[in-house]
Amino acid sequence: MTADAFSKMAGNRAIAQKAVKDTWETASLVRFTGWGQCNANSGSAAQLVRVAVEDVIANATKTRVTLNFTFNNFQASRCKGNQQQLEKCIFTETVHEFGHVLGFSHEQNRPDTNEIYCSAEKDDFGGDTIVGAWDIDSVMNYCSRSQGAWMNDGILSKTDIQMVQKYYGTPNPMPDMPSSSAGSFLAPILLIME
Ligand SMILES: [Zn+2]
Repeated sequence: MTADAFSKMAGNRAIAQKAVKDTWETASLVRFTGWGQCNANSGSAAQLVRVAVEDVIANATKTRVTLNFTFNNFQASRCKGNQQQLEKCIFTETVHEFGHVLGFSHEQNRPDTNEIYCSAEKDDFGGDTIVGAWDIDSVMNYCSRSQGAWMNDGILSKTDIQMVQKYYGTPNPMPDMPSSSAGSFLAPILLIME
């Protein structure tokens, strides 16, 4: 990416950085520092996360993230309506993809996923440890409770917070942060599905 292109993305990059700060960093002791443009020396850093920006389906591994800032080819109907929608989508996708950087898999990969309710395909992210009850409100869950919420709009659920604190530590004192109440709507939805 050229310095000019990098500079033009400053606003959207700030949204992405804030998304990580307001969620995973606020809820735990993990910190992502040194947000800047990659250079020839970047590859030698021990704990480097490379972030690309492309108009593709956002995706991530533990060391590489691809974010989408334009949404012509991904979630266009949800994200392209106006500036507020665009910023919300950048926030949401960033929270989800940095969940992968932290090692978290998709909620629908869990073996206890109710496939009648949640038919999202299991993928090769796998996962070997389960934290808490199956969580419809997880930002790592493709099966959000309504079409209005995409990956819980990037708001960590109580179990997401429990999960990140299990592996990355708990702030003391724990700051106030928005979180959704996992489970409170699960039973009614399951009843409807039956
Ligand atoms: Zn994902």
